[in-house]
Amino acid sequence: MKVIDLRSDTVTHPTAKMREAMANAVVGDDVYEEDPTINQLEQDAAAMFGKEAGLFVTSGTQGNMAAILAQCGRGDEVILGDKAHTFVYEGGGIAALGSIHPRTVSVQPDGTLPLDDLRRAVRGNNVHFPRTKLISLENTQGTVGGMPLSVEYTHAVAEIAQQYGLKLHIDGARIFNAAVAQGVMPKALVEAADSMTFCLSKGLCAPVGSVLVGSKAMITEARRVRKMLGGGVRQGGILAAAGLIAIHEMVDRLAEDHQHACLLGEGLAQIPHLQVDLSRIKTNFVFFDLLETAPITPETLVQQLNERCQIRLSPYPGYQRTFRAVTHYWITAERVQRVIGALREILA
Ligand SMILES: *Cc1c(COP(=O)(O)O)cnc(C)c1O
Repeated sequence: MKVIDLRSDTVTHPTAKMREAMANAVVGDDVYEEDPTINQLEQDAAAMFGKEAGLFVTSGTQGNMAAILAQCGRGDEVILGDKAHTFVYEGGGIAALGSIHPRTVSVQPDGTLPLDDLRRAVRGNNVHFPRTKLISLENTQGTVGGMPLSVEYTHAVAEIAQQYGLKLHIDGARIFNAAVAQGVMPKALVEAADSMTFCLSKGLCAPVGSVLVGSKAMITEARRVRKMLGGGVRQGGILAAAGLIAIHEMVDRLAEDHQHACLLGEGLAQIPHLQVDLSRIKTNFVFFDLLETAPITPETLVQQLNERCQIRLSPYPGYQRTFRAVTHYWITAERVQRVIGALREILA
């Protein structure tokens, strides 16, 4: 990648090795479950997370929707964070396509949903109420800064789910970042969950796709939902070939992205007119504010970074002066220094 694109880790291009594997992928018709490369990816992903089965889906949105529609029916209720991707950024799909009622609980700055709030949100058995069916967590929790949820917290939520007979889904778009940041096995973070979706196409650099993992029965149902959603791909092994490299070779290096996020944060903290809370950099996200004292507007900053330095950065959606910089495979330490240098110059 020529440009330095910090807007998200979704912008990552596939690596040279991925492109080669894609070119040589053995393929078949995946709707017939005959694509060997997709089958391999699904098996390997399931094994990594200690689950029975996996399902290749075209996006994280589709994976979350397939998981939730597979486990909830019309009029059922899902408890999820008010800043959860599934609630905010998935087009209201669970309601629009699944007739599933979302009930939100306030996401805390550390990414958790308070346990007492979860307990209170579970409906009693009463003719007035929708039926609570599922709790959905997000790990890492993106909107509050890529906060990783711990194994202990996940188990505490699972206990509540079990107590009330609910399913637990994890939107693990960046579950590997959560695992690497906390030095735990990815499997430990989802052991207590019935279903989990993770993205191949973010920090792991694959061009397309996510994988949903869970029990055989859940995956069988989710496979039906995926077809209904238009996600039954045919010779998708071309995509899964990159996915296999993503899960087998791109996970450990995420630690580097986290180090680069810290480096970037430390550099930005020293630049006048910028404010960074270094204690909140836990994974590959760096949130920072352009203070009112700055000599230029956020729009001008974006424009100058882009035009003068080929650096893509933008205010976080819904915010004016808060920026989110995301480190990934294509943001090397040298590029981090170039970004710090460019901001220092522009804000001088
Ligand atoms: C990226 C992301 C998804 C999936 O988004 P797609 O654009 O559909 O791949 C889901 N949840 C979270 C938290 C994400 O960051």
